[in-house]
Amino acid sequence: MPPRRRLTQTEQDHFVEVETFADGLSKQYLLCRTYGHSWQPHRAGRVRDVSGHPTAAWEQTLRCKCRVKRTMLLNSEFDIVVSKHDYRDAPGYLTEGIGRITGHSKAALRKVAIMRLIAAEEAA
Ligand SMILES: [Zn+2]
Repeated sequence: MPPRRRLTQTEQDHFVEVETFADGLSKQYLLCRTYGHSWQPHRAGRVRDVSGHPTAAWEQTLRCKCRVKRTMLLNSEFDIVVSKHDYRDAPGYLTEGIGRITGHSKAALRKVAIMRLIAAEEAA
C-alpha cells in the first residue's frame, strides 16, 4: 500500500462533491461508476461509405445495463481505431459540474457503494 499522504483542501473538497454525487446515483449507475461498465455486444457490421456500399472497416456497438453505449471503429484487421461512449440514453450518469472522478475521489464512489451494501445487508 502506498504511504498515506495528507490530502490537499482541493482533494478533500472534491471527495465530498463526488460523495454527494454518488449518493444521488441509482444502484446501476453507482455499480458502473465504481466497478466499470459491464459491456454486452449490441450490434456490429461493416462501415458503409456515403453511397451505402460496405467498406473494409468495421463498427461494433456494445451496451451496458446502465444504457451507456460504446461504439468502436475497427480497421480491416479488427484493430480499434476509435472508441467513443454515448451517454444520451443514460441521463444523470455524467458528472456535470464536478469534473472527472480521478485519484482519491474514486474512493468516494467505493465509500458510497460499500455503505449502501452494508445498509442493505443490515435491512435484510
Ligand atoms: Zn454501465
